[in-house]
Amino acid sequence: VASRLQSSGLLRTQGLIGGKWTNAYDGKTLEVNNPATGEIIAEVACMGRKETNDAISSAFDAYKSWSKLTAAERSKRLRKWYDLLMAHQEELGQLITLEQGKPLKEAMGEVGYGASFIEFFAEEAKRVYGDIIPPTLPDRRLFVLKQPVGVVGAITPWNFPLAMITRKVGPALACGCTVVIKPSELTPLTALAAAELALQAGIPPGAVNVVMGNAPDIGDALLASPQVRKITFTGSTAVGKKLMAGAAGTVKRVSLELGGNAPCIVFDDADLDVAIKGTLAAKFRNSGQTCVCANRVLVQEGIYDKFADAFSKAVQNLKVGDGFSEGVVQGPLINEAAVNKVETFLQDAVSKGAKVLLGGKRHSLGMTFYEPTIISDVNSEMLLSREEVFGPVAPLLRFKTEEEAIHMANDTNAGLAAYIFTNNVQRTWRVSEALEYGLVGVNEGIISTEVAPFGGIKQSGLGREGSKYGMDEYLEVNQICMLGG
Ligand code: ADP
Repeated sequence: VASRLQSSGLLRTQGLIGGKWTNAYDGKTLEVNNPATGEIIAEVACMGRKETNDAISSAFDAYKSWSKLTAAERSKRLRKWYDLLMAHQEELGQLITLEQGKPLKEAMGEVGYGASFIEFFAEEAKRVYGDIIPPTLPDRRLFVLKQPVGVVGAITPWNFPLAMITRKVGPALACGCTVVIKPSELTPLTALAAAELALQAGIPPGAVNVVMGNAPDIGDALLASPQVRKITFTGSTAVGKKLMAGAAGTVKRVSLELGGNAPCIVFDDADLDVAIKGTLAAKFRNSGQTCVCANRVLVQEGIYDKFADAFSKAVQNLKVGDGFSEGVVQGPLINEAAVNKVETFLQDAVSKGAKVLLGGKRHSLGMTFYEPTIISDVNSEMLLSREEVFGPVAPLLRFKTEEEAIHMANDTNAGLAAYIFTNNVQRTWRVSEALEYGLVGVNEGIISTEVAPFGGIKQSGLGREGSKYGMDEYLEVNQICMLGG
């Protein structure tokens, strides 16, 4: 696969600074591994402060012209980028499976999903309207202009190597901003391939830069620069807090998409099949490694046993393996640390009285494969219900009343996604409104789309990605007050 990618020109290993593929200045590299096999796929440039500062300068220069293009022109080039991403859906999908591990079908799905942000924001580029406000004095005129924020630093995680980038870079470029992307060191290859296609699409040199390597150094350089006007980040809550604090030095704008602790609430009146299908999708997508993955499955006592039984049967059928193998729906976890975390959470739960219904150990395939797991009798004292497990473990918690479920669901600092399963319309409204979450799925486990806002409340983050609201993150609202008239 790697050699085929090489011949397509999409296997890039250097950083991209000012439109030039660039080695680390000191020649350092870092290895990118295939989590399913441990093989080294490539060695990429391991960059730091100096390269980042040059990338920022390039983005700053490119901003002057990119922001002055007509919206229609920016839109055309973004659309071209979308077309190229889709034309290379298969290669990009392979690259994602190779470095991230998710099954090829899911990886190809991510390419479609990731590309959709570029298409959507190509369209939105043309719809950045201002306002004319009736003045308070007869000789004044008041105008509101929406103008691009400026240079954006985008720091992204490994679980969606493409989509987490496009949903930041799409709106940023559409608004007239330019960007310095720092992809995860675990999955830089997809980011580099996408950047190559951006160049091919006519996104000018310097408008999209990619640096990777020493994350804290790159982060510090982005934070320290007064030319970077905005940091947009998806990743852990701990790093997000650091970035938010670091952005204070130059009062940058920040958008943060951080950890979740998604409750998935199954009420007695739910349609069992719908609840199983939705919970399965919400929990086991990407082997449980998404920030909207159901982290706690709260099941009402009347349906608890039936649900546990049917859910176990469904989870038993999930085929685990290398993402390139036919029929596999569960790939490996991203690395050893991820498996260790799952093991720690499980030991903690079992030591406090939880019961393993299914799985509960490393998969016989070895590496970082883990058995799809269901664990019952989980309570609020266990790590499994307090923190994000980020793995293929579904903890079941029992509740009696709707009030109790709402209390349990909201009893966390996180507030990203929540899911409810019920056939009662009044309950749907009541519970959806009472849940302190930025996203609520009702009888549905897959809730992310480019056309609707995605983002969290409480410590799950700031700002929204996707949809028309996703544009606001990259726009300043500036007033012009004019005498005359
Ligand atoms: P995850 O658990 O998803 O790996 P992280 O928050 O550790 O979450 O990583 C998300 C992104 O943040 C990655 O690109 C990572 O390299 C980057 N990152 C980690 N530490 C820092 C830091 N101190 N400054 C800037 N970026 C960082």
